[in-house]
Amino acid sequence: MKFFDLHCDTITECYNQNKSLTNNDLDISLDRGKILEKWTQVFAIWLPDTIRGNEAETYYEKVLAKYKEEIKNAENVNPVLAVEGGAVLNGKLENIEKLHNDGVKILTLTWNGENEIASGCFAEEDKGLTSFGKEAVKELTKRNIIPDVSHLAEKSFYDLCEETDFPFVASHSDAFSLNPHVRNLKDEQIKVIVERKGLIGLNFYNKFLGEGNAIEMLIKHAEHILNLGGEDVLCMGSDFDGCSIDEELKGIEKMENLYSVFNKHFGEQLTDKIFYENANAYLLNK
Ligand SMILES: [Zn+2]
Repeated sequence: MKFFDLHCDTITECYNQNKSLTNNDLDISLDRGKILEKWTQVFAIWLPDTIRGNEAETYYEKVLAKYKEEIKNAENVNPVLAVEGGAVLNGKLENIEKLHNDGVKILTLTWNGENEIASGCFAEEDKGLTSFGKEAVKELTKRNIIPDVSHLAEKSFYDLCEETDFPFVASHSDAFSLNPHVRNLKDEQIKVIVERKGLIGLNFYNKFLGEGNAIEMLIKHAEHILNLGGEDVLCMGSDFDGCSIDEELKGIEKMENLYSVFNKHFGEQLTDKIFYENANAYLLNK
């Protein structure tokens, strides 16, 4: 089976725990991913809200060096680089060119708190996009770095919509109307992403999925987004190594079983779109 995952924190964990990407006890290792016939994995360099200013730039450089070192051995995966947290820019537009030159394809505009670009979903006040944020979004989209709205607060989300027509993504978020967590997307937000032909990656985090069997809940979230027209935008955004995941979904080696459950439920064509084709078609055009 083919697997395209729009978000994981594995490379950040490899850096923080001084582990190898090839062989480790994390949710993703290159060795355990060898069961996949074709595999594209977005690796996010995650900047926690406690890291700001010059420190954010330095931290990014260190994790980037780890990423470059580790993907030298990545024969069985097509790695895509992302940064989770617009604090990486340190409030400087010229850093966007640097991200582009480093090969960053996706920038999650905020983490949970507030940064130079916008307010995250747990910020004390949702101030929307800042004036720097508006400039940054123009520059990002000009360079084809995809804005990612996962973690973004609601006003910030709609400010972004006013600022650009770009088909942005929500790399790792589920549906709010099934489980009202502030990190999940409301129906109106899902509809915006569907209209724009962006992407929504299903998150495996048990707190976002809600009570119940994780695979059954994941199917419910998928069904909900499909019912809102998401056939071409739905994909996987596991959040591997970034959150607490129930045993049945925990690990890249569990994806074959997940695929067969989805296949039984949605049929092969739609399952292939969700597991690979949608995200692949989107990213090929960017
Ligand atoms: Zn995240």
